[in-house]
Amino acid sequence: MSYSLRSKLSISYLFLALLLTGLLIVMVNFFFEKQFQDYRIKQIQQNNQEIVSALAQQFSAETGTWAEPYVESIGIHALEQGLILKISDAGGRVVWDATVHNNGLCIQMINHMSSNMMTRYPDFEGGYMESSYAVRKGDLFAGTARIGYYGPFFLSDNDLAFISTLNRMIVIIGLVALIAALILGAVMSRRMIKPLSRAVSAAGEISRGYYGGRITEKSDTREIIQLTSAINGLAESLQTQEGLRKRLTSDVAHELRTPLATLQSHMEAMIDGIWEPDSERLKSCHEEIIRISRLVGDLEKLARFEGENLRLDKSVFDVRELAGSIKINMEAEFLQKGVHLSVQGDSTSVLADRDKISQVMINLLSNALKFTDEGGKVDLAVEQGQGQVLITVSDTGAGISEEDLPHIFERFYRADPSRNRLTGGSGIGLAIVKAIVEAHGGAVSAESEIGKGSRFTIKVPERPEEDTRR
Ligand code: ADP
Repeated sequence: MSYSLRSKLSISYLFLALLLTGLLIVMVNFFFEKQFQDYRIKQIQQNNQEIVSALAQQFSAETGTWAEPYVESIGIHALEQGLILKISDAGGRVVWDATVHNNGLCIQMINHMSSNMMTRYPDFEGGYMESSYAVRKGDLFAGTARIGYYGPFFLSDNDLAFISTLNRMIVIIGLVALIAALILGAVMSRRMIKPLSRAVSAAGEISRGYYGGRITEKSDTREIIQLTSAINGLAESLQTQEGLRKRLTSDVAHELRTPLATLQSHMEAMIDGIWEPDSERLKSCHEEIIRISRLVGDLEKLARFEGENLRLDKSVFDVRELAGSIKINMEAEFLQKGVHLSVQGDSTSVLADRDKISQVMINLLSNALKFTDEGGKVDLAVEQGQGQVLITVSDTGAGISEEDLPHIFERFYRADPSRNRLTGGSGIGLAIVKAIVEAHGGAVSAESEIGKGSRFTIKVPERPEEDTRR
């Protein structure tokens, strides 16, 4: 079961809005209302005290009498607040009694409060209560005030209106929050969905073999930026791979065509009896076959070193020591041709693939030997500096022309093919060198002058921060 991003986001926001509103309702109804009730209870007590002290004001200590009209007005005022007052003097004579004043109103009031309380709190256990207070003027006992009310507390119409307004406001807040959650969910998901669905369709295009498209939609979500740039990177590298593959195929076809055409025409001439199949002709055919099989061998090598197949097996080793052992291995060939080979430099350690670096040096030295005549010199030097290891192979050989120099690292490129036919190269050695060095995060370069010699420089990082090829 899968859900769209939009519904997921909207549901989470809705849930959050509901949770907050619910929390608000609980807070208001339980905690706030509890506080409010306590406040009302205290208020009733305080109100009663105030009435008692206002009554004391109406007693004259000199004459020992009550100012009855004022007592009555206090009683009526209290009645308006829902308090039923009865004042007796020190002797127990009733000065003023609300039930005598207006009994009907008293009963009606108590009933009204009871129904107020029942609507708000159906289980409220309250009822009519009375508290008696002694009214004193200084040390003199003036009488007793009995105050009856609906207790332990009661809510007036105003109080009830206040509480229900509060609840209505919470409901409105809740509704607004819900609508905001829905809108926010829709807006946020749309902002995320657009680049995501673009990424999905781009990935689909890639899987169908169209590598040209790129995702251009901008986003400010980090993960989406990472996703789109990963997909763009994927398309980029697939496109490059595709280009390389096409070029390789056409290069190979091109390389095979010449020897095959030669073989074919020679064979046809011999079959048709135009040529005698003598040993010289057969030898020439044999040479072409050798050329083809060498090419196939080189292609195999190239496949191993180029592109995705190149996996580096890194270890720390001494490049100078490696150069020394390569010198020993190749010395015989150099001696045979009469070319002097020297190795220079101090012990230099590097984190790299030893076999592949060895292949690089062998290729460069073989080229140097191939293009250097008897009496010439080839020098292999190892240096270190700025976190890089420099390997240079210089020779005093034929040199490379300015036109050829920029291309020699390309596959199948041979300067002066006729000369190379003799030297037997297929133009792959330097392509392999380049592939290996670049896989190490390094760079290759060459300088040369016709007739004076060439110098090939390899730079590889001493301690690569991260493996560029996994
Ligand atoms: P090849 O198998 O033909 O040697 P490479 O890729 O090794 O192929 O070299 C490509 C071309 O670069 C060679 O054919 C040659 O023309 C030129 N080249 C390479 N190294 C040297 C050198 N040391 N001196 C002169 N020319 C060279």
